[in-house]
Amino acid sequence: MGLSAGERTYFLMTCHRCGKGTRKQVDWLSTERRMQCSSPKCRAVIDLKAPQHQQLIEILLHHAAEVDELLASTGSMDGLKD
Ligand SMILES: [Zn+2]
Repeated sequence: MGLSAGERTYFLMTCHRCGKGTRKQVDWLSTERRMQCSSPKCRAVIDLKAPQHQQLIEILLHHAAEVDELLASTGSMDGLKD
């Protein structure tokens, strides 16, 4: 069984403090409550349950579901060989 689209899709969450992006799986973002900025000098905690983040994650999950549908309908076209 292959990866779900939510597992293979990554999003750069922008830090509210330093403005840098931290790369996370969409699936991971949907299950965690908070995350930490990956910038060593910052390490700010980003609240994933804040309303604007919840809205963003909902949209990302929706897109991931569409990708899953597409891959299912084409027989995993990203795995095409030859
Ligand atoms: Zn930061």
